[in-house]
Formats: sequence, structure tokens, C-alpha cells
Amino acid sequence: VLRLDGVRKRFGDTEVLGGVDLTVAEHDVVALIGASGSGKSTLLRCVNLLERIDDGQIWLRDTDISDPRVHADRVRARIGTVFQQFNLFPHIRVIDNVTLASRRVLRIPRATAEATALELLDRVGLAGKAREYPDRLSGGQQQRVAIVRAIATNPELLLLDEITSALDPELVVEVLDLVRDLKNEGTTIVMATHEMAFARDVADRVVFLDGGVIVEEGPAAQLLREPREDRTRAFLARFL
Ligand code: ATP
Ligand code: MG
Repeated sequence: VLRLDGVRKRFGDTEVLGGVDLTVAEHDVVALIGASGSGKSTLLRCVNLLERIDDGQIWLRDTDISDPRVHADRVRARIGTVFQQFNLFPHIRVIDNVTLASRRVLRIPRATAEATALELLDRVGLAGKAREYPDRLSGGQQQRVAIVRAIATNPELLLLDEITSALDPELVVEVLDLVRDLKNEGTTIVMATHEMAFARDVADRVVFLDGGVIVEEGPAAQLLREPREDRTRAFLARFL
């Protein structure tokens, strides 16, 4: 579904991604781990075209999305993204947050988009909140709405960037349960996370980034339990 070939990204003189090669197969759940500043968010932002890469290529199926001529909005409708801060639009209701991209980018009629949105909201127990404004919801509810919004366009790929780190501990569970459900439905997911337990439970593969390069990747259980590289071991030791 997704392939990164030699992806490089620089901010001024600093190389933040130093040649990243990564392949994500259909139905794969990949966890990106690494210290703060290792480039996890930048990598995700390059994939959904919030950042332009300096070198390399990014393929979403048969589309070279790193080609400057691609239509960014159209690519983003194929990629759902959820950030740490829920980023719901505060001035429009929950239902409109969820249907916006379907209606504006995919040109799906309002009634159809709303029916789909209500179905999705119902699944996460939030159909009753459809007419509320985001600030009337708890952090965990807002984050579930953000996830519903991200999957409402039926994307080929879901990017999750530290989606639980701004939540109170008791709200984390409901969000992680939702991600687990999506995995079980076969959603292809790339997620940056500091939650090693979650990575171990949900991810098929774990990718360890350090200084903008992939130091090691492998099956989640194996990489987290018995990493091959010293740098990975040193990083993981901090979580014990
Ligand atoms: P965290 O775990 O704290 O979220 P991260 O792995 O997501 O960290 P990034 O946010 O990708 O790390 O940042 C990687 C590096 O790129 C950092 O050194 C950061 O300061 C730098 N960086 C990120 N965005 C910009 C920007 N817009 N301009 C300049 N430097 C940036
Ligand atoms: Mg980050």
C-alpha cells in the first residue's frame, strides 16, 4: 500500500530524515518508535504531504505522491490522519467535522455522507453527540471523533501520531480499543507511539527510528523483546 524509497527531509541545515526506506503492506499495522526528535512525526507528515520531501519517493499504491504535481487534497482523502491534538474544527458540529472531507473532496452528497458518519459514530458510541460542538466532548470522545473523521473517507491508509499522549490515562483505553478494532477489520495503519505495550499488542511490525534513519525493524514481539541493535536496546531500556 505504501512505499518510501530513500526519503530525505531537511529543515534548514538539519537533516531530519536521512534516507528512509519503508514498505507497508495491506492490512499491516506498523508502529514507529524512537526518541523525541527522531523524526517520527516528520515522516508521517511527509506521507500525508504536510511536508515536501527533499529527495526520494513515496508511493501510495500506484501513485507517486511525492511528485509535486499530485493533488494534495486528493491524496489526503486516501490517507486518514489523526494527531496528538485532536484538531477537530471547533466551529462546526461533530457530524460536519466527520463529513467535511467526504462532501468537499469526494463530492459525496450530504445525506449519504451523514448516513455513513452516523453509522461510524454509532459504532464508537457517539451517535448521540453528532449535533454537539467538539468542545462539549471529553478528550477521549474528541479523539474518537477524530479517528472516525479520518476513516470516513474510507482511506487506504491510516496515520496515527501519538494519538493517546494528550489524554488522561482513563481515556486512553477507549481510544486504543478503537484502534485495535480497526486493525481487526484489516485497516492498514502506521502509528507513531510512545506506548510500547500498545505497540507490542497491536502492531505487526515495529520500526525504530534514531536520528532520522531506521536503525532496526522487525516483528513487534521480537524487536521489543530481543532487539538486535545496541541503539534499540538502549532506547527500550528506558521503558523498563
Ligand atoms: P516526538 O517524539 O517528540 O514527537 P518526533 O520523533 O515526532 O518527536 P519530529 O517532530 O519529527 O520528531 O522532529 C524531528 C526533528 O525535526 C526535530 O529535531 C525537530 O526539531 C525538527 N523539526 C520538526 N519540524 C520542524 C520544522 N517545521 N522546522 C524546523 N525543524 C523541525
Ligand atoms: Mg512527534
